[in-house]
Amino acid sequence: SETHKLVVVGGGGVGKSALTIQFIQAPPPESRNYAQTLPPIPTWDHPVLREVPSDPSPLAGTNTTRPGPGSLRFLPLPPPQSFNEVSKLFTQILRVKDRDDFPIVLVGNKADLEAQRQVPRSEANTFSASHHVAYFEASAKLRLNVDEAFEQLVRAVRKY
Ligand code: GDP
Repeated sequence: SETHKLVVVGGGGVGKSALTIQFIQAPPPESRNYAQTLPPIPTWDHPVLREVPSDPSPLAGTNTTRPGPGSLRFLPLPPPQSFNEVSKLFTQILRVKDRDDFPIVLVGNKADLEAQRQVPRSEANTFSASHHVAYFEASAKLRLNVDEAFEQLVRAVRKY
């Protein structure tokens, strides 16, 4: 069956590892503190497979936090800057691919920290609508919208 490579990009500290780990481990949310046990971060060389429900294709997760073969590296950025960089990156991908769509989902993590919001929801919604990409406000801490975001991405990859 088919395996998809997913790349998680964003500024340092935005929660790329935490989201990836939550998705791969898929625990019952109340059973575990997400910060306590950190498994190896998946890389292209050592993918961790997780099946997406309702479809038999497995999924290789990857993360840019620990640079490895095939992974990208991002300098730490202030949190709102991460959104700006990701929007620019998306534009660059479209240019390189010479297409006007590419399978991505936009994730605003740390939704549990609403009081410290860095990116206005309206800005993210505008990006989402203009580029036809799904937008999720997620929390790796609460395991909110984690599966939804990754599964939507897999669906977008399959449709591409
Ligand atoms: P990365 O550099 O993008 O991979 O970020 P990490 O996954 O290492 O997370 C950076 C910090 O943010 C860590 O201290 C995490 O515990 C914390 N963190 C990650 N996701 C969340 C979240 O959804 N909510 C809160 N409150 N903290 C988070």
